[in-house]
Amino acid sequence: MTDCDIVIVGAGPAGATAALNLAPFHRVLLIDLRATPHSRIGESLPGAARRLMTDMGLWQGFVSDGHAPRHLHRSVWGNADISERDALADPDGHGWHLDRARFERRLRATAAARGAMLLAPARPRAVVREGARWRISLDHDGHARDITARLIVDAAGRGSRVPTGSGARRIVDDRLICTWLRGHAPLADGATQIEAEAGGWWYAAPLPHGEAVLAFHTDADLPDARLCRDPAALLRRARRLPMLGPQLNAADWDEAMHGTCAAQGAALAPPAGADWIAVGDAALAFDPLSSQGLFNALYTGLAGAETAERMLSGDSQASADYAQELAQVRATYRAHLAAWYGMERRWPDQPFWSRRHGAERSRRPANAAGVCSGSGSAAMIAGETG
Ligand SMILES: Cc1cc2nc3c(=O)[nH]c(=O)nc-3n(C[C@H](O)[C@H](O)[C@H](O)COP(=O)(O)OP(=O)(O)OC[C@H]3O[C@@H](n4cnc5c(N)ncnc54)[C@H](O)[C@@H]3O)c2cc1C
Repeated sequence: MTDCDIVIVGAGPAGATAALNLAPFHRVLLIDLRATPHSRIGESLPGAARRLMTDMGLWQGFVSDGHAPRHLHRSVWGNADISERDALADPDGHGWHLDRARFERRLRATAAARGAMLLAPARPRAVVREGARWRISLDHDGHARDITARLIVDAAGRGSRVPTGSGARRIVDDRLICTWLRGHAPLADGATQIEAEAGGWWYAAPLPHGEAVLAFHTDADLPDARLCRDPAALLRRARRLPMLGPQLNAADWDEAMHGTCAAQGAALAPPAGADWIAVGDAALAFDPLSSQGLFNALYTGLAGAETAERMLSGDSQASADYAQELAQVRATYRAHLAAWYGMERRWPDQPFWSRRHGAERSRRPANAAGVCSGSGSAAMIAGETG
């Protein structure tokens, strides 16, 4: 039996960030299903993350990992014109096209260097309350192992099923899915590109090692969702796009490197209890149009660590304060999102768009802590038009 203060389930960006902030002061166990981080589809990090990483002592390591800078956004949104926005206009400076696996390896390694114990591959098989402690039965690389802890941090991502027995429920905003394809040729000039069409919207961006990703976002219950099952049809459809279409011919798209994932906004209510807390996508997940997910993972990893610290010292107001902070972040995010979708009015009869226009708010959003206003995919649209 291993005894620790805090068990963190999920060593993605949010869990590893919580771990590296807590490990200098507590006995922290960080567990993950995967022995090593795997690559994800195109992930861009906004420039506003620079401040957070500096505050947490991560900046020098991040720079030395050589992630590609992201200077240019290009979009077709709201009308047929191509708009461009240079990061020079962003007060936070340029963002990055992340090498996602490298980014996560760096966070995990920093957590371990600061004293966290990392178990991977490992997953909880049973979680029960025993008096003032949790007992967690783990499967660690095929071996059973028991852990006790005062606090559980749920950092297992948007599909989290960590059973804290709290009665918290997941609120899901819509049925957005993303279907994607990877290829072996760089897209023009390394820009992040977004293009709206009747059935949803497209995203294209460079990846590390000369690769690129092309992704289509629509609702799972709409006819266009059938493109998820047919990468050749996905590519045929993309080739007809006025902006992205002509660029795709130069790329060598690999129909085997194809996948589909859930992409809707979601929230856990409440995101914390007396002896557990959720961080990252497990607490708040974002529509990828916002490019907000990784910033939020870093932000809630840090805010969650501060809240955990307060909980361990017996502060009974800590989880309510955290819930309030996240509610404010979510309200601001949803107002931004409604405004961004509201800018695209060319297909009012198409369900993908009319559903989102129904959610639109008339007021312009105010910024809140934890929402970066800078260089996300949607911010480039707002930057052009607003
Ligand atoms: C299509 C799409 C595109 C996106 N593009 C962007 C973008 O360009 N920029 C951006 O900022 N964000 C983007 N995001 C969002 C971003 O990927 C997430 O917000 C981010 O990964 C959240 O980090 P996390 O640590 O909370 O969760 P995750 O990254 O999902 O990490 C969760 C970790 O928990 C582990 N885990 C899960 N279950 C268990 C278990 N039972 N036991 C142990 N371990 C477990 C997993 O292996 C994983 O390592 C995108 C999301 C989608 C869906």
